[in-house]
Amino acid sequence: MKGLSNSILSLEPSGIRKMFNMTYGMKDTISFAIGEPDFSAPERATMAANKCNDSGFTKYTPNAGFLPLREKIAGRLREYGINANPEREIIITVGGMESLYMIMLILLNPHDEVIVTDPYWCNYCQQARMVGGVPVSVPVYEKDGFAFTPENVRKAITDKTKMIVINSPANPTGGVTDLPVLEELAKIAVEHDLYVLTDEVYKSFLYDGRTHHSIATLPGMKERTLLVDSFSKTYAMTGWRVGYTVGPQEIISQMVIAQEGICSSVNSSAQLGAIAALDDPPREMEECLELFDRRRRLIVDGLNSIRNISCQMPAGAFYAFPNISLSGMSSEDFAVSLLKQEGVVVIPGSAFGAAGEGFLRLCYATSDENIMRGVERIERFVKKNT
Ligand code: PLP
Repeated sequence: MKGLSNSILSLEPSGIRKMFNMTYGMKDTISFAIGEPDFSAPERATMAANKCNDSGFTKYTPNAGFLPLREKIAGRLREYGINANPEREIIITVGGMESLYMIMLILLNPHDEVIVTDPYWCNYCQQARMVGGVPVSVPVYEKDGFAFTPENVRKAITDKTKMIVINSPANPTGGVTDLPVLEELAKIAVEHDLYVLTDEVYKSFLYDGRTHHSIATLPGMKERTLLVDSFSKTYAMTGWRVGYTVGPQEIISQMVIAQEGICSSVNSSAQLGAIAALDDPPREMEECLELFDRRRRLIVDGLNSIRNISCQMPAGAFYAFPNISLSGMSSEDFAVSLLKQEGVVVIPGSAFGAAGEGFLRLCYATSDENIMRGVERIERFVKKNT
């Protein structure tokens, strides 16, 4: 039998999956592992999708996605200062995930390098490797709110560098990249003629009055930026699998061609549901943000009250990234023992790169009660083991 492809053999199962697998058959667990909102998709989206199915509007859609959805997205993007032509500069994809994969597929030749933060969201590295690319990670630090230090990005650039990935707000750290850093990164991208992939799927989850800035709006960036967003997090539509890329016409048109050979098009009723979701009354998002903000404070204050744990207040997304280095345990030992002794599921920081060692990721998109019970159990675990 001939072997599998080298790119596939270079992939490793994610640390998140490893933790999930360990929970099978366990009872009375409290999970901070799953990165998805715990509320339901908007009713108007569900109704629109049901109506689509009931009326038999169930055929393939254009490869680029329904034009009315692209038009509506273009309208919402203008609120962030982004002007995109819905016919030529937007493609609807199977979640943000397919957008990310296709961008790697279309831009990377074998051995091309992609700069990511460390800690990183593992899929950037996996996807780059799947198409023969090489992820190059640049450590980011707690003291900088886990945003890139532009000087370190500069140092990581080689003649093979093709793209920088920015994820703000970030998974797994909750870090936000502020405008001055984005401006520096934009200068670097222009100077070295690099593409920038900006993953903005958590842009609706920003706290303390922060506003979202997209690097796509900065001078010289529109022609080299691929902006990825999705309905998964903002509208709690993770299972619907609707996302999109906004970018230069030459790249979007290639993505449309690739889409035909990958999945042809996104589920038709999910696209109509997404159109309806975009009608959100702003109050709805405000209420959701208030709820997440309260949970953010609850979990961070709770973690900070535990000996040997310190946790910065994350500026965005819905992840806390506490520092457990004073516990004397590796993040994996901490997470595995915590699960075995107390049934609490957290992800070891080392699952997100070497710089994640000494940290844990806890998703706080869960009830106040779970947060309080989970923190209590973590405290009991720390008292017993450190
Ligand atoms: N980007 C980041 C940073 C994520 O955390 C996720 C999902 O967890 C995605 C993109 C992709 O989400 P989806 O494919 O559901 O849109």
